[in-house]
Amino acid sequence: MRPESLDFFRLIVNTPSPSGYEEHAAEVYRNYTNTWADEIKTDVHGNVAAILNPHAEMRIMLAGHMDEIGFIVHYIDDAGLIYFSGIGGHDSTVAIGQRVWIHGQAGRVCGVIGRKAIHLLEEEERKKKPELKDMWIDIGASNRAEAEAVIALGDVVTYQVEFQNLLGDRATARGFDNKMGSFIVAETIRLLKEDGGLDPNVGVYAVATVQEEIGLRGARTSAFWIEAQSGLAVDVNHAIDYPSVSKTRYGQLDLGKGPSVMRGANANPIVFQMIRDAAAREDIPYQVDVAPGGTGTDGNAMQLNRGGMAVGILGVALRYMHTPCEVLSLTDVENCARLMAAYCRSVKPDTDFTPRITR
Ligand SMILES: [Zn+2]
Repeated sequence: MRPESLDFFRLIVNTPSPSGYEEHAAEVYRNYTNTWADEIKTDVHGNVAAILNPHAEMRIMLAGHMDEIGFIVHYIDDAGLIYFSGIGGHDSTVAIGQRVWIHGQAGRVCGVIGRKAIHLLEEEERKKKPELKDMWIDIGASNRAEAEAVIALGDVVTYQVEFQNLLGDRATARGFDNKMGSFIVAETIRLLKEDGGLDPNVGVYAVATVQEEIGLRGARTSAFWIEAQSGLAVDVNHAIDYPSVSKTRYGQLDLGKGPSVMRGANANPIVFQMIRDAAAREDIPYQVDVAPGGTGTDGNAMQLNRGGMAVGILGVALRYMHTPCEVLSLTDVENCARLMAAYCRSVKPDTDFTPRITR
């Protein structure tokens, strides 16, 4: 990966951005895309669109959500212990014993997620899955006033984990889901600007969307004002290549074998075929992934926008989703950006996305 691209990837992944609190990631996204975009627009919801050919009537929306899962402080007790709720879907077994940052107004505050020690758990408690409501964050405060001096209700919390390279082209981080997607739509703009090939009468809106993890909320509002005829959403996708996950149940998706291209009702069939043709033309590996209905991605909100949008859904295989140790292949990430750019090049001002019999 190009060193400047990797720096941006690392920075946006490391920048805390739980749903509803994406401002810092948005700033990182604007600073990077500024070099290539003809125009950048941040809407009132917080979505950031980096735009090429803003005056074109044919428009493509690219969406990669920049929010991540996290926690939010909802109560501080007299002893100065802090109680929190999950933002997005957590595996509560992961939270115990983690070091966290509470993002206070005056800066981040170090804390640990505590619960009763193993020795003190009753026999029955040991068998039960621990829940977030039975945990708290300890910042070392000895009373409520000490805690309130540095944090406040509504502050958000993230794990103290940052991007690290693993062997080969693999990397681990918290929040690849889905700062990786924001990275890919930004890189798509760069590839289109640097390598060319985009029709001057086709506009591209590369959107780092907000609040996906809590219900595809940013994609819904940005899709409305962009009013694109076609769009691609990119998100992480479950790698089905490690012990205990069944290929017969979920299909196969391997790390390192290329981005996934979704086939099923949430993908427009013309867009699906155009993505495959673009991949063949530019020699980009990919894996087909199947979804029988609406997906949990921004692509779902986009497809159902206004009178409908012709949507395609790209994914990158990810292990251990929604944990602080998500793992992916950097080559897959690069190939996904190449595939997205190749699709954009294939869209012309008169492309007809209406599903029809083609053979
Ligand atoms: Zn997610």
